[in-house]
Amino acid sequence: MPESQRVVILGGGPGGYESALVAAQLGADVTVVDSDGIGGSAVLTDCVPSKTLIATAELMTDIRGARELGLRLPGFTGLVADLTVDLAEVNARVKSLAAEQSGDIARRLERDGVKVIVGRGRLDGNERVIATSPDGTEQVLEADTILIATGAAPRTLASAQPDGERILTWEQVYDLDELPEKLIVVGSGVTGAEFASAYLALGVDVTLVSSRDRVLPGEDADASAVLEEVSIRKGMHVLGQSRMESVVRDGDSVTVTLTDGRQVTGSHCILALGSIPNTADLGLESAGVITDDGGFIKVDRVSRTSARGVYAAGDCTGVLMLASVAAMQGRIAMWHFLGDAVAPLDLKKVASNVFTAPEIATVGCSQKAVEAGEIVAETVMLPLAGNPRAKMQGIHDGFVKLFCRPGMGIVVGGVVVGPRASELIHPLSIAVSESLTADQFAQAFTVYPSLSGSLAEAARRLHHV
Ligand SMILES: Cc1cc2nc3c(=O)[nH]c(=O)nc-3n(C[C@H](O)[C@H](O)[C@H](O)COP(=O)(O)OP(=O)(O)OC[C@H]3O[C@@H](n4cnc5c(N)ncnc54)[C@H](O)[C@@H]3O)c2cc1C
Repeated sequence: MPESQRVVILGGGPGGYESALVAAQLGADVTVVDSDGIGGSAVLTDCVPSKTLIATAELMTDIRGARELGLRLPGFTGLVADLTVDLAEVNARVKSLAAEQSGDIARRLERDGVKVIVGRGRLDGNERVIATSPDGTEQVLEADTILIATGAAPRTLASAQPDGERILTWEQVYDLDELPEKLIVVGSGVTGAEFASAYLALGVDVTLVSSRDRVLPGEDADASAVLEEVSIRKGMHVLGQSRMESVVRDGDSVTVTLTDGRQVTGSHCILALGSIPNTADLGLESAGVITDDGGFIKVDRVSRTSARGVYAAGDCTGVLMLASVAAMQGRIAMWHFLGDAVAPLDLKKVASNVFTAPEIATVGCSQKAVEAGEIVAETVMLPLAGNPRAKMQGIHDGFVKLFCRPGMGIVVGGVVVGPRASELIHPLSIAVSESLTADQFAQAFTVYPSLSGSLAEAARRLHHV
């Protein structure tokens, strides 16, 4: 049966290429129409480039701590100012790594028999896609199902227009050849916080402009408090309750004007104002695909849109703007359409990470949900400073936090703040996903000494006699 199913996918990011791989595995005839390069924004401009830049920043953070651990490098006094960052080389590495990864994915698609058409796709009803290639030629693709995974693009304002040189979106930062002298990052969500943290670690004078009273307003409040405290201690200027009105360039300087009239001047500005979905001019109306007021495609938990036979996945749905979620939504869509076993998307099980220094990783229920009475849970929070491995490694900031249901003691969520929190969250993610109890979690051996020992210790503290 699946052999005859023609699947057409718009967009070659994680939502698109992961669903293509699943559909091909299940025997479908799969075509991906992609306009900007396989891997999508995730691989070419967002996730992969930013985390590659952050890898260099992390090394700088480690070197900053080297002196405390007794390291004396010849000719290096221990001051980071003595180390220079060759940003042109860093960015060349970023771009080549992104291009390589895009190539790897394209080859994998080819190997699995997925056809790729370079061009823009649009729907013509719910069983046909028109692909327009860069030279303007059109191809009509008949489809038994269509998956829309066209992603999202950086939001800009008329009063804050990027020029690609000094006023930059997050996609443009990799064209810089030299470190900014004075960088202003506007927006203190995940993207703004990550870039501010990375450039600070690279030795840049950074001002973070936040319209809210704290950085990372969407994250665990204890975690964002640690990040803010550490960032300020390292020299970041954090302007809370400061809403940007405009960003203007004048020669070599940029001025950010706030709604209360204050002005901040720097050499460069990164705009991190959120994303808008790539859903305009897609022919959605022709197929009966409904969007919300922000233009995001409405989907259910198996990625179905309002139009029969049309699915959507990833940032264009605005469900949760993560590469991992985009990929899962895409896979679910194909499992569902092609009749494989499928469980609906469960956002309570999503693990995510903010790649700042320290990192902030979370999974499952949040402190906010507990405080709002949406879920009843007990909480234990342990600072990493008391962990033996943390002491040995000179880690002073961060914590682990566990949430578990009273009674059965089922682990329903957790937060890890510290170096490599993105790796440390995984056992907690398994516990949440498998509904393990705090006792079961605590029973598993951890290595001594290890940071994960604190996770087990937190679980032990949730034991009830
Ligand atoms: C700076 C930054 C860092 C991030 N870091 C992380 C991270 O560390 N971890 C994480 O999980 N997530 C991260 N994200 C989020 C992640 O990048 C997105 O959630 C992910 O890219 C969504 O995948 P997608 O497939 O929906 O869309 P995309 O990756 O945007 O891919 C969509 C593709 O479709 C193409 N397209 C658009 N319109 C059409 C059309 N009409 N026809 C054909 N093709 C079209 C686009 O050009 C694009 O190539 C980050 C985001 C940003 C901004």
